[in-house]
Amino acid sequence: MKKMASLLLFSLLFLLVLTDSGHAATASPQTKIILDGHELVLPSDVEVVNINKNVMIPIRVVAENLKFKVKWDQKKQNVSIEQNNKAISLHVGRTEAYGQNGKVTLNTAPQLIKNTVVVPLRFVSEEMGLSVSWNNKDKIVGLTSAAVPSVEPAPSPPPVVSGPGQSTVWSKVNDISFGNHQLVVSIDHEVTPRITRLSNPDRIVVDLPDTTFGDMAPGMKQGTMGKLDVSGIPNVTEVRYSLFTNDPAQVRVVMELNNLSDVQVNVQYVSGKLIVDLAVAGIIGIPVPPAQQDNGKSIIVIDPGHGGKDPGTIGISKTQEKNFTLPLALKVQALLSQEPDIEVVMTRETDVYPTRPERVQLANTLNADVFVSIHGNSVEASPQISGTETFYYKRSSSKALADIMHRHLVEVLGFKDRGVKNGNLEVLRDTTMPAVLLEIGFLSNLAEEQAMLSETVQDKAAQAIVDAIKEFLHQPS
Ligand SMILES: [Zn+2]
Repeated sequence: MKKMASLLLFSLLFLLVLTDSGHAATASPQTKIILDGHELVLPSDVEVVNINKNVMIPIRVVAENLKFKVKWDQKKQNVSIEQNNKAISLHVGRTEAYGQNGKVTLNTAPQLIKNTVVVPLRFVSEEMGLSVSWNNKDKIVGLTSAAVPSVEPAPSPPPVVSGPGQSTVWSKVNDISFGNHQLVVSIDHEVTPRITRLSNPDRIVVDLPDTTFGDMAPGMKQGTMGKLDVSGIPNVTEVRYSLFTNDPAQVRVVMELNNLSDVQVNVQYVSGKLIVDLAVAGIIGIPVPPAQQDNGKSIIVIDPGHGGKDPGTIGISKTQEKNFTLPLALKVQALLSQEPDIEVVMTRETDVYPTRPERVQLANTLNADVFVSIHGNSVEASPQISGTETFYYKRSSSKALADIMHRHLVEVLGFKDRGVKNGNLEVLRDTTMPAVLLEIGFLSNLAEEQAMLSETVQDKAAQAIVDAIKEFLHQPS
């Protein structure tokens, strides 16, 4: 479960930021790795790279900083990493690796680049128990180990920003709120937060360097403290904030939890707000990826219906709806990712079950331009029923999208035209952008089920969905 969650996290997390595929590319020459608040010194010409959409990081420098023993066998091209009773083994060029719980298959094999072995970030975090954040603006990979210091650490001194004729200007926090397992800090300039996990009591400390309070508590003095009302929020006992230091200014927010063990911390900025998302494995299934702002691209959220424990409807040959929606949605994703003006974000890319509120929240937090939920229909008792239906809810923008989508689908699929319908469906009702739910065809109808499961028909349907999205986006508004 936890693995699934983090799998999803990484696929989402880097979907928006890294678009090269098929060959190694430098994620960014300035990409930094911050481990537990300290920037790792990377050997010269060692870089974070992006291979087949996987962020690959140099393993040795990370492992050694975590006090793991790293052994390199040149002949066997094998890296082994040990700490206490934990052992991990990887081979350059092989996707098969050994983690703490036995054999694992990597998405991308470790590679030797300029004498440094790079491995998928996902593997590092899962096997070494690190939580990961990505600051897209500053190109920083943040790694937080579960290692627990006995006291809250003193803040490390920030870089000196004042120079001749220049006075220091701190970033200002104008609001802090907590809800939906998210800490939301409105801040006038982006800063890179330092996140620390501590125990006794379990808590997450968010330090904002070079930051003071603005509107919300203008005269806040060092050492005084404010608290948010978190009564009734499960697992959260207290959220407090303070001006931790005065000069350099530093704001500290502490979230006290009953249990930190399953919590993954994900940090991002969305429209001037720092969002620290506490993704509890199995509870909050979709960490929101970092938004790319002002790049002029339309954000399209594709939602393959059901998944994981929720099979959806069952077809005439016992096909589970979730196994129809995912492959089709992945085809849509593949097509959309080739569009230069579109960022595609998936609510799931594997067989997992995000709840409907989570799917909605993802689209709303991203302020997506279009939301498309993909489903298959079924009426078990009436296998003769067939055809395509497209749903929207109330909004005229959703209706416009539904009309276009339906026309394209009916045209290429040739299934019976069952029409565009207004439906009070949660993912349509609670999303805030043009949103449609597609019932592509009836899995309870033998002919339609066979068609829906075929590659050719899925390719056609995927192309129709993409064509419809593009037509909708290019409409005069
Ligand atoms: Zn469905």
